Amino acid sequence: MATRCGFQNLIGGSFVDSHSSDSIDVLNPATQEVVSRVPLTTKDEFKSAVAAAKEAFPSWRNTPITTRQRVMFKLQDLIRKNTRFWFWLSPYHEHFLEEVVEHACGMATLQMGEYVANVSNGIDTYSIREPLGVCAGICPFNFPAMIPLWMFPVAVTCGNTYVLKPSEKDPGASMILAELAMEAGLPNGVLNIVHGTHDIVNAICDDDDIRAVSFVGSNTAGMHIYARASASGKRVQSNMGAKNHGIVMPDANVDATLNALVAAGFGAAGQRCMALSTVVFVGDSKLWEDKLVERAKALKVSAGTDPEADLGPVISKQVRQRKGSASWYKAGSKVEQDCLLDGRTIKVPGYEQGNFIGPTILADVTADMECYKEEIFGPVLICMQADSLEEAINIVNRNKYGNGAAIFTSSGIAARKFQTEIEAGQVGINVPIPVPLPFFSFTGSKASFAGDLNFYGKAGVQFYIQIKTVTQQWKDLPSGAGVSLAMPTSQ
Ligand code: NAD
Repeated sequence: MATRCGFQNLIGGSFVDSHSSDSIDVLNPATQEVVSRVPLTTKDEFKSAVAAAKEAFPSWRNTPITTRQRVMFKLQDLIRKNTRFWFWLSPYHEHFLEEVVEHACGMATLQMGEYVANVSNGIDTYSIREPLGVCAGICPFNFPAMIPLWMFPVAVTCGNTYVLKPSEKDPGASMILAELAMEAGLPNGVLNIVHGTHDIVNAICDDDDIRAVSFVGSNTAGMHIYARASASGKRVQSNMGAKNHGIVMPDANVDATLNALVAAGFGAAGQRCMALSTVVFVGDSKLWEDKLVERAKALKVSAGTDPEADLGPVISKQVRQRKGSASWYKAGSKVEQDCLLDGRTIKVPGYEQGNFIGPTILADVTADMECYKEEIFGPVLICMQADSLEEAINIVNRNKYGNGAAIFTSSGIAARKFQTEIEAGQVGINVPIPVPLPFFSFTGSKASFAGDLNFYGKAGVQFYIQIKTVTQQWKDLPSGAGVSLAMPTSQ
């Protein structure tokens, strides 16, 4: 909850003010107005949150799975009916809200073990999929509801308890989710929330009672967390940055492809891990680029709360300055002159203080340029050119990221070659980078992911459980039988 003092921690079922004297202002990126404050949760408060989760674990893990599922049914219903989210979600046009909760409603099936009868005479072996204990999640600013929902619903429905650290830039949606989860019947201590930045993240990585950490965010933070939390014996799944490419073949449907490129390139002001930030045109690119510019110019840039807005501001002034700076337009290249559409100087009437960058399109970009090498995470679409599908695939595969890639074509042969040869975790064929629904998993690869088990879907359940394999023997043993030194399964 947010009070006059700012956002509260959620510890053991109570929303409580932090005693910390340090806090961070949460700003509306369209106006710079201070919306609230986030405390830097103290070490003691963090310890209390972990202790509450630890205390709640024995009873929650023994709560029947059907009861745990029912809490998710209720939560899904409450999320659907709740309109308070929209203030936090409007900049991201966030639709993918409650699907993971919906999926968690079927946890009894997802968590089923396996059984093989009579592996040896009178001996059966079966596996049980048990919760781990206390788990934790660390969230990015974008998709402020969807990403927490990738984490705690799966974890708690498996029987774990949870400590969530929302982004310090927009923790509001997580707080609403926590209120709804409690209203849905999640017992005290099963979900706890702490706030802060590096220190609290490091405390999560180092804590001996936390068994698994889910992270979504940048590569700098993600690799640090992956290394530090793994070093203290935790399971870690780390979803990180992206440079998603779309290959456009000369035979692609023109209208559908342009619509897809504009929507995926500029939607949410490019602040989506699935944003399509790089287009590789096979063959002549000029005609495509002219039409792209035309469509991008027609987009309305305004506050996320403006129902007419196609794209809102970027998250902070610092980010705006970095992304709007000339440095990567020029670096080692003639890109400045190839800036087909320059959104750096945009003014949005009524929101003069906002962190706006208008749609920006850069042409003739090559792989050695800064704008290509770094993740921009803003409304900037980079255009490259290749002479063949083979060359375009090579460009994509040489990039260090492996989150997603798409092809636009009317040739099944080209699509099949692309699907087979492309090195990316999420592949779109005439669909700009798709976010898989939760019966699948979010399968970023290469530098976009560290860990073994992806978020949600079957892998997501596997991440939050430990398999116990039981071998049992129930047979009448003849009295007076001697001691056998054979392995039980070879008797
Ligand atoms: P971020 O890495 O700055 O912050 C993410 C979280 O890590 C925050 O909770 C923050 O407090 C913490 N953090 C940041 N730096 C840290 C450090 N050095 N040490 C410890 N903790 C640290 O990311 P962001 O700017 O909030 O989010 C944008 C990034 O997230 C982009 O790179 C985007 O691609 C990525 N992202 C990836 C996915 C995915 O599924 N692959 C989804 C959404 C966003």
